[in-house]
Amino acid sequence: MGWDRAGSELTELQIEPQRQPWPDERMVYLTLDFECDFGTALTRNVYEAVEYVDDLVDLLETTETPLTCFVQTELLDERPEAVERLRGCSQPVTFHPHSHTHSKRENTSMRYEITRSTDRFTEFFDRSPVGYRFPNGNVRASDYQLLSEEGYEFDASVFPTWRPGHFNNTQAPAVPTYLNRFDLFEMPFTVLSSVVPIPTALSYCRIFGRLVTSALLRAGPSTVVFNIHLHDLATPTSATALPPLYQALYSRNVDGFALLHDVLTRYQRQGYRFDTIDSAHETLRNRFPGYT
Ligand SMILES: [Zn+2]
Repeated sequence: MGWDRAGSELTELQIEPQRQPWPDERMVYLTLDFECDFGTALTRNVYEAVEYVDDLVDLLETTETPLTCFVQTELLDERPEAVERLRGCSQPVTFHPHSHTHSKRENTSMRYEITRSTDRFTEFFDRSPVGYRFPNGNVRASDYQLLSEEGYEFDASVFPTWRPGHFNNTQAPAVPTYLNRFDLFEMPFTVLSSVVPIPTALSYCRIFGRLVTSALLRAGPSTVVFNIHLHDLATPTSATALPPLYQALYSRNVDGFALLHDVLTRYQRQGYRFDTIDSAHETLRNRFPGYT
């Protein structure tokens, strides 16, 4: 429903989305959804996987990888020390909200999630947030209006692919798009290719194993938004409460840390550079004076 719905609403609102190429070739933007275990797949929010944040910081520092972090702001109340640990990383780490409760959109109010997470974020970091990411890639045109009212400059939620029960974004742009009515950029996820539109994310590397990891490095996109969750890096015991299908998927290739280390170092050997989504967004805005 996501972009198809958003697409028709955008037309109704007479918005002219302007597609922009990613600012650089051979770039990796590592993004983290810092959230409750398994997102919306568990019936209540559990925060066991945040324990792995120390190992993630070590990995970012040893591989010299910057990170763009989308933090579910309930975590700022539940486990502030984990957020502080990531904030103390010696590599650049930028933070943005990823909703407050990380609920499925039918179980919550988008206005509540955006205003609550914006307030909580501003209080914790002592500055206004710049970007936002919706849970499950489920963003709609009406949400952009809410983000613009709160002063956001970009959203980073759209998967240019489909996910049964969550969204069908096969018509969505696979490159950044400027939404002039809202003065917002959508900075989408990337996929393996238009023929094999698997998101470039650690969860899919775990599910499909070496097949996808090798394809990613050999035939993947030149600009890569590579997404991770802490529960992709190692499996917390809360996994036992997952539905059987998810349990089966998360029992595959269990050493997510080794997999991520392998992916990052192989990109580095191939001459890819690493940066934050913030940096890409600033470059796009600066490139066109009308956007600033
Ligand atoms: Zn999430």
